[in-house]
Amino acid sequence: MKKNIIAILLALVLVFAMTGCGGSDSGALKVGTEPTFPPFDTTDEDQNIVGFDMDLISAIAEDQGLEVEFVNLSFDGLVPAVKNGDIDIVAAGMSITDERLEQVDFTDAYYDSQLFVAVPVDNTTITGIDDLTPDMKVAAQTGTTGAAKVQELYDQGKIKEAVILDGLDTCMMQLINGDVSAVINDKPVTETYMKKQPDKIKMVGEALTAESYGFAVAKGNEELLEKLNAGLANVIADGTFDELIEKWFSTAQ
Ligand code: GLN
Repeated sequence: MKKNIIAILLALVLVFAMTGCGGSDSGALKVGTEPTFPPFDTTDEDQNIVGFDMDLISAIAEDQGLEVEFVNLSFDGLVPAVKNGDIDIVAAGMSITDERLEQVDFTDAYYDSQLFVAVPVDNTTITGIDDLTPDMKVAAQTGTTGAAKVQELYDQGKIKEAVILDGLDTCMMQLINGDVSAVINDKPVTETYMKKQPDKIKMVGEALTAESYGFAVAKGNEELLEKLNAGLANVIADGTFDELIEKWFSTAQ
């Protein structure tokens, strides 16, 4: 009888240990994103958050023996959320900028990108950023490097209105509907919108910037940063990274 009780107690201890009760490191890491940024961050038919970023961070986590779960936030809420501990990681096609580096730490870069002006496919007057005029509205997603560029054009009196919207899908819809003259956004993502809705949008002119995406963590979270960098190097070395590029960039997502 006594033996049975001890066995049951031991089993309970084991169950608690395995489910990680009481250990804050044992839960899944919260990964924040904004899923209107395909193919990096998007949703499937069932509204699950999916994308290149999700697969990449999952592969990195698996390599490092970590677990992740995804949290849907607005893009301008991601840095504040990782700063205050609501999330552990930002995986959102987020460009490593000096401004953001004052607030968060970034992993090594995993993707190089550029900002481009996008216009409706039948537009013939706007061939680059210099063709934007003070009668035009130009859109971008809130909190992004594209939005900073649009705001700069507005501050310089070069456009009539900076239309800063929550979702990039809304920016693209406004462009297609003719509500705005142009959108400033990341090239690989505008290309994905172009594939999703052929013959609606085109990119014009030269690249406005050169940017690189990294995953962000809270400032000083060295332990997590080192694991993410080690995992990133491993999944690049073992070919997983290239497989994910092939998976997410070969077809419209
Ligand atoms: N790369 C851009 C930035 O960091 C846009 C990211 C996004 O819209 N998800 O601001």
